[in-house]
Amino acid sequence: MTICYIGIGSNLGDRHKNIGKAIQSLGSTKGIILKRTSSIYETEPMGGVPQGKFLNGVLEIETDIRPKELLGVLNAIEESLGRKRTVKNGPRTMDLDILYYGDEIIAEDNLVVPHPKIEQREFVLKGLRELKRAE
Ligand code: ADP
Ligand code: MG
Repeated sequence: MTICYIGIGSNLGDRHKNIGKAIQSLGSTKGIILKRTSSIYETEPMGGVPQGKFLNGVLEIETDIRPKELLGVLNAIEESLGRKRTVKNGPRTMDLDILYYGDEIIAEDNLVVPHPKIEQREFVLKGLRELKRAE
């Protein structure tokens, strides 16, 4: 089993409900144990596209699902919540990113871990700090 950190975000529709549903789906997935969740906080959108504020947080899970399959699980949850990939960096009902997968380093076309934008994203660092501090 490996400890992973997942970034969660929503800025479209009922944001609290979307986040609640995604956390529930993740926690009820076979092979995933939901360990801890950070607080869920409101953040300003980044990336230049005019859009509503996000709710963001970070989840700590333990899993025996390998990274690529885990990305598939996250994408399926995004889709079940109505995520449409239209505008890059645009509004989304759900965004689930793999921040860390244990201490593994992955550099593939569709999966880079640790997530390359962690340091630039205060909305990710805030949740990570909360969980790391409470360790
Ligand atoms: P972002 O999360 O950067 O705002 P998207 O959610 O649209 O953008 O993701 C774009 C692509 O990023 C996905 O298709 C996925 O293959 C790729 N990707 C690369 N590394 C990761 C990762 N660590 N976690 C999630 N997606 C990733
Ligand atoms: Mg994403």
